[in-house]
Amino acid sequence: MENYRPTRAIVNLRAIQENIENLKTYLPNHTGIIAVVKADGYGHGEVEVARAAIEAGALMVSVATPDEAIHLRAGGITADILVMGPSPVHFAEKAAELGIHITVSDAEWLRQATMTVGKSSDPLKIHVKIDSGMGRIGLRDEKMLLEIVEVIEETPAICLEGAFTHFACADEEDPSRTEEQFDRFMELVDKFPQRPTLVHASNSAATLLYPEYALDAVRFGISLYGIAPSAFVGTKLPFELKKAFTLETELAYVKLLEKGNRVSYGGTYETERNEWIGTLPIGYADGLKRGLRGQEVLIDGERVPIIGTICMDQCMVKLPREMQVGEKVTLIGRQGDEEITMEEWADRLGTIPYEIAVTIGKRTPRIY
Ligand SMILES: *Cc1c(COP(=O)(O)O)cnc(C)c1O
Repeated sequence: MENYRPTRAIVNLRAIQENIENLKTYLPNHTGIIAVVKADGYGHGEVEVARAAIEAGALMVSVATPDEAIHLRAGGITADILVMGPSPVHFAEKAAELGIHITVSDAEWLRQATMTVGKSSDPLKIHVKIDSGMGRIGLRDEKMLLEIVEVIEETPAICLEGAFTHFACADEEDPSRTEEQFDRFMELVDKFPQRPTLVHASNSAATLLYPEYALDAVRFGISLYGIAPSAFVGTKLPFELKKAFTLETELAYVKLLEKGNRVSYGGTYETERNEWIGTLPIGYADGLKRGLRGQEVLIDGERVPIIGTICMDQCMVKLPREMQVGEKVTLIGRQGDEEITMEEWADRLGTIPYEIAVTIGKRTPRIY
């Protein structure tokens, strides 16, 4: 598809691969990397990121939903895929057929799911989810675990691939909740008559802060893309994370507005003197949220503020001087010594960079 609008996201797959290579060096040799590519690869493009990650040595990839897994298979990803979130029972047959690993938290669910796969020759690959303190999905005690084991043992079509848990507070300074969760998890993992092949617990934060919890694999999400899970983890990085995402556009229109003129909806910005105003072809439909008014962009290596209300498809900036239409504008990324990060947007919006990454809309093409 041709794109006439110059607004685009440039995804540096090499940066993602370097993050994997550096992580491999940092982790124990026997620990595999599960590249988390849910939510369209945190907005970077799930198929492209999955392919790059596997090429760089990731063991497998994971997503949140069955549909995301199907999309990866349709995109030609042949590596193992884990669906980490809940799946409906009727997905089991498709999962077995496509070799997609699914997450199981409950024996009754598994019993029902196996009834749909019994006839097929493909095994249903499962990871048992243990809720060690996140309170989301997962079994919480030994009784529930042994019930699942019973179903697994009586069903040859089920293949127990793994067991995992998810940390709720690994990105915080206080390690006590993460320690508690890890201990609880290991206590329950020990109840399996046979230890599953792949026991995994760590998200990005735990991977980076607690290599001693690496186990058989880590589920590396946000930091695969070069982003620290929290400001605290950002101060403790064991190796440099390379950012993969750049958001850029071009000046679409430039004018000199005399003192006392208003800009954009609501007329809330008024020029204080004669000002050069630039218009950018990007707006909140692209993920440039209205709350980012006042946020700076980079033009010619300088920080330039967004002024007035951000529109659905356009916004205005206050230029330091006359500039040409077509001048490159970087909204996320680097120009010279200046850099604007998703973390900076997140701080301004009172959220976390995860939310920024998945908010850059589909209308903005990804260039690899
Ligand atoms: C999203 C997710 C991850 C990855 O978390 P990051 O903080 O992005 O590394 C890992 N495990 C599960 C279960 C998840 O839902």
